[in-house]
Amino acid sequence: MAAYLELHRSGKLRERVNASLSLLERCSVCPRSCGVNRLAGDVGKCRTPRDAMVSSYGPHFGEESLLVGRYGSGTIFFTNCNLTCLFCQNYRVSQLGQGQKVSKEELACIMLSLQARGCHNINLVSPTHVVPQILEALEVAVESGLHLPLVYNSGGYDSVGTLRILDGIVDIYMPDMKYDDEETARELSGIENYPEVDKTSIKEMHRQTGDLDINQEGVAQRGLLVRHLVLPHGLAGTKGIVDFLSREISRNTYVNIMAQYHPCYKALQIPALGWRISSAEF
Ligand code: SF4
Repeated sequence: MAAYLELHRSGKLRERVNASLSLLERCSVCPRSCGVNRLAGDVGKCRTPRDAMVSSYGPHFGEESLLVGRYGSGTIFFTNCNLTCLFCQNYRVSQLGQGQKVSKEELACIMLSLQARGCHNINLVSPTHVVPQILEALEVAVESGLHLPLVYNSGGYDSVGTLRILDGIVDIYMPDMKYDDEETARELSGIENYPEVDKTSIKEMHRQTGDLDINQEGVAQRGLLVRHLVLPHGLAGTKGIVDFLSREISRNTYVNIMAQYHPCYKALQIPALGWRISSAEF
């Protein structure tokens, strides 16, 4: 049963919704801390004002097998992102703004429709900049019977303050660990302090949910699942990331090391990103 049901029963889900919405007035929803008033329609680095936007949703069978099970992961792709990765493989949605504005009632209906289709979870893709909008929709959906676990599928640049609001709400954290080197993060994703923020976020996610717990059917129920995309020329800093996970998180951390990098969007501006990784690099 999803973690948030207990919070809803105790009346504390409403407090979390209010706490998250208050972050929008001088936006500090993510570590960018743009300070803009999104309630008044202003936008910061994520280009997202008051309402969330969704580009697509549905049962997804291309995610990790332990999220997909038999009936798929109920994936919701949010438009825009708080990162600006030059090689983003989903750039039309994350960088070019493809998608439709949704109200909290519409987002709740999307969640409920995924549950009605038999999905094993609600998989929130790029949720970081729309946590308040997700929580206000969640409250509406819970009141109409939503009970699926929530998967928080982020780029890993999350604020610990916002993650604490999600404590007891998110069942499965699935963050990226993109880089181990600040200079690389600045050049490729437009972020100064990604490695430090990412590692702090991962510690908080693991503190909340622990190692990944998988049921007898092979479907993840709760815990941390880290994604790491290997980049050409060792740009992703794989060794540093794996060392961090084994030393400071847990030797049992579930890590999906991904080989599917291919040059797209602005990757060709950076010569080192101009080709796929070799099998030896992987
Ligand atoms: S969520 Fe968007 S507006 Fe708010 S701090 Fe992050 S990037 Fe800036």
